[in-house]
Amino acid sequence: MRSAVLLACLLALVAARPSERPNLHGAQVLRTVPHSPSQVHYLHGLLRQGHYDFWREPRALGQPVDIMAKAWQLPVLKATLDGLHLKYSVMISNVAQLVRETVPRHDGPRAMDWTSYHDYDEINDWLDELAATYPSLCSVEDVGTSYEGRTMKLLTIGTGDASNPGIFIDGGIHAREWIAPATVTYMVNELVTKSDTYADILAAVNFYVMPAINPDGYAYTFTDERLWRKTRSHQDGVICVGVDPNRNWGFHWGEGGTSDSPCSDIYCGPEPFSEVEMRVVRDQITRLGSAVSAYLTFHSYSQLWMYPWGYGYDLPDDWEDLDALAQDAVTALTAVHGTIYEIGSSANTIYVAAGGSDDWAKGVGGVKYSYTVELRDTGSYGFLLPPEQIIPTGEETFEALLVYARFFQNGGT
Ligand SMILES: [Zn+2]
Repeated sequence: MRSAVLLACLLALVAARPSERPNLHGAQVLRTVPHSPSQVHYLHGLLRQGHYDFWREPRALGQPVDIMAKAWQLPVLKATLDGLHLKYSVMISNVAQLVRETVPRHDGPRAMDWTSYHDYDEINDWLDELAATYPSLCSVEDVGTSYEGRTMKLLTIGTGDASNPGIFIDGGIHAREWIAPATVTYMVNELVTKSDTYADILAAVNFYVMPAINPDGYAYTFTDERLWRKTRSHQDGVICVGVDPNRNWGFHWGEGGTSDSPCSDIYCGPEPFSEVEMRVVRDQITRLGSAVSAYLTFHSYSQLWMYPWGYGYDLPDDWEDLDALAQDAVTALTAVHGTIYEIGSSANTIYVAAGGSDDWAKGVGGVKYSYTVELRDTGSYGFLLPPEQIIPTGEETFEALLVYARFFQNGGT
């Protein structure tokens, strides 16, 4: 009887964990490579259970899977992998130390730069500053408010007609992928501060930019939990917080590669577009309509340049057009620092994952050239990419963006 009570208490403790600030002391990221379909299947089951933080989800045979375990989980995870005859290596031996090294020192708001990561308010202030400093080049609009009340801004860059072809760019849909907002803001800064160099492009192509579209989640990674991924919305009677915003879009919503468990990191939400932040972005893409020729959404990590579909293995009829442009973009990217990217459709390159923004942009929003980009690296640092890599990542990714811009500037459709 007493042991039953003790067990109940222990279970209650375990159940309470998702709402606590996690203790990363002793946490490690293990990498394993499945070599049989049953191993992939089992790893998928482990992902859906939601006990471990999958940094890189199970894909195809021979593709690495990265799993973070807290100190108290490590022995169990290792035993589980042993039981499946899955060899593993330690990818990141000291997660806590890496978190400390990549979090910026904070004594009040800091001016924007690309040698450190910046929080949500700093990015928003910088957008306002840009619009004030370069009024003939860019403008900023408040286009919505997040669940916790943060202002969401859309920056428009361009000197030509509103009807010019446009590239819609967003980043940070997953809160912990800090290199995404950093890279998006880097590219904006290049375009705006070197507008003489890019005058021909800016006269012919518009850029619509929202650098961090999960404001509450992103802010939370700076104040509370560096490795938070989801939004921060609450549901009545549900302990776990947040929805995976990139499973929340209303196109094949709730299908493969999603979870209906609110505690899962791939929880698709109670209904399509349950998350206000995703409705805000959707409404901007809808409002701009045919002025959006391409949609680029930036994530990390894995170095992948992907196009729809993510909901299933089928390819869009015009996939060869999307693939050709991606090939050119990645060639330009690789030429800068030698960084290798893989190209393909989302489902075929990583895994089936329905409800993503890129699928919606193409399938409902009518944006032909829609892409999800997983930025650096391939796992050495994962989500904890050192700030010294922001500028090189920005430099190479900007060359890829220029390929898109020149394609539309030269009349590509
Ligand atoms: Zn992501």
